Amino acid sequence: TRRPAANSVIRPDFKFEDLGIGGLDKEFSDIFRRAFASRIFPPGLAEKIGIQHVRGILLYGPPGTGKTLIARQIGKMLNAREPKVINGPEVLNKYVGQSEENIRKLFADAEKEQKEKGDESGLHIIIFDELDAVCKQRGSGAGGGTGVGDSVVNQLLSKLDGVDQLNNILLIGMTNRKDMIDEALLRSGRLEVHMEISLPDEFGRQQILKIHTTKMRENGKMAGDVNLSELAKLTRNFSGAEISGLVKSASSFALQRHIKGGTVAALSDDVADMQIHMEDFLRALD
Ligand code: ATP
Repeated sequence: TRRPAANSVIRPDFKFEDLGIGGLDKEFSDIFRRAFASRIFPPGLAEKIGIQHVRGILLYGPPGTGKTLIARQIGKMLNAREPKVINGPEVLNKYVGQSEENIRKLFADAEKEQKEKGDESGLHIIIFDELDAVCKQRGSGAGGGTGVGDSVVNQLLSKLDGVDQLNNILLIGMTNRKDMIDEALLRSGRLEVHMEISLPDEFGRQQILKIHTTKMRENGKMAGDVNLSELAKLTRNFSGAEISGLVKSASSFALQRHIKGGTVAALSDDVADMQIHMEDFLRALD
């Protein structure tokens, strides 16, 4: 029997709960089903039954909803190499004139490893944040665009469906504006799985509150009067990032209450006594 390639197998000890992502159970199970189910099969078997590994995923939705977090956690789940992260505006501004070269470099490690190890190559993940920024300029040359966006998009396309197809690559594109993404990038074999990551509902907000208060609960810093399900009700339209900010701000209000204006040496005692109460969360909400 053929040994499964390192790049194709989901970690056997993988658990959704360990990912620290709240409120996205449905999205995650969709991504899982559509993008990674094939990675349970060794490549030889996958080919026999006509399954191709998904090469690209587009995560879209409002800011702060956990797209970056998901992209990174997908890497962990698939036991991938440390992801390479690139950002649309950065490609356009910082590297004018050499952006194609930069895209080439992004794929170089994966290409090298595939050449050397074939099916045994590790999985390489490329996270492309604010992907819309490189698409905006496409075809806008006449209007004074620099065309840099064009060449970046073309380079990405050629890497995704080049002659020596890379089986060890997963490109994860992220954007707040799916409507701005070049259609050519969204076709089959490219960023073919599209997942909307929206603001969390009440249950999701409660999960995210739980995640971001784990440490303070474990260290006995959260007072018994803190009611997370009430806070989930009060944080309508908050993103995950805003909920994480709320928890941090509640802690700093609690700290302010506990610092009694004594000496610096007394500070550590103050912190040791410190408890975060519901009132701190309510002030933070304010
Ligand atoms: P942007 O579009 O602005 O890049 P994003 O959707 O990529 O935002 P992240 O950068 O992943 O958002 O989120 C910022 C931080 O907010 C995360 O590092 C995490 O601490 C917290 N966060 C956001 N969403 C969630 C979530 N669903 N569960 C737990 N934490 C979350």
